[in-house]
Amino acid sequence: MVEPVIMVVATRNSGKTKEIRSLLEGFPVELKDLNDFGPIPEPIEDGLTFEENAYKKASFTAKILGLPAIADDSGLEVEALGGAPGVYSARYAGINATDEENNRKLLKEMEGIENRRARFCCVISIAVPTGFALTYEGFCEGEILKAPRGAGGFGYDPLFFYPPLGKTFAEMTLEEKNAISHRGRALQELRREFDKVLLWIHNRLEEERRMLGYICENE
Ligand code: IMP
Repeated sequence: MVEPVIMVVATRNSGKTKEIRSLLEGFPVELKDLNDFGPIPEPIEDGLTFEENAYKKASFTAKILGLPAIADDSGLEVEALGGAPGVYSARYAGINATDEENNRKLLKEMEGIENRRARFCCVISIAVPTGFALTYEGFCEGEILKAPRGAGGFGYDPLFFYPPLGKTFAEMTLEEKNAISHRGRALQELRREFDKVLLWIHNRLEEERRMLGYICENE
């Protein structure tokens, strides 16, 4: 039997861990998250891209805990605003802004703008303790409405209209949203490739062990 790989989801949000665990069911992997460990420092998410932030979270966690780690970063990019709010999506209206405040700010910035095109982006990074990493991405294109619609979801969901279904993200069921969302698409891509990911992790960890053996022998 193959030994399962232990991998840490770099989050304290158990909902996120549950989602990834259910997606990777059947693969020889044992998922833990930050709640399974004592207090550990958190990385500063000061990257200029989603990829940088996802990598920072995954590699920082992998280095600190000495285990492969997985992290994601996501947000909304609005074409007419030059890609804003982008990596600042969670704190667009201020450091502790609520979803409602962020949505209000977005509507204000979009006043009088005809081009409403926008996309949600999600980047997933899987890193090993030596710092090497793999990246997966998912996007979902839509439009920013002039007023919120729907009561479900979170964040910018009530303002994000997805033309193929004729609904905002906040009007969709979770299944509908997961099938087409940026996060859903990145996770589906990860699932399709996960056999190769596991092999890559095995090889990187094996390299690390050999390197450590070489250092010990030569000391
Ligand atoms: P995080 O990287 O998943 O924490 O997302 C950062 C921010 O992007 C969130 O606080 C939301 O404002 C926004 N965001 C990311 N994904 C979604 C989504 O699926 N719907 C609505 N807003 C989202």
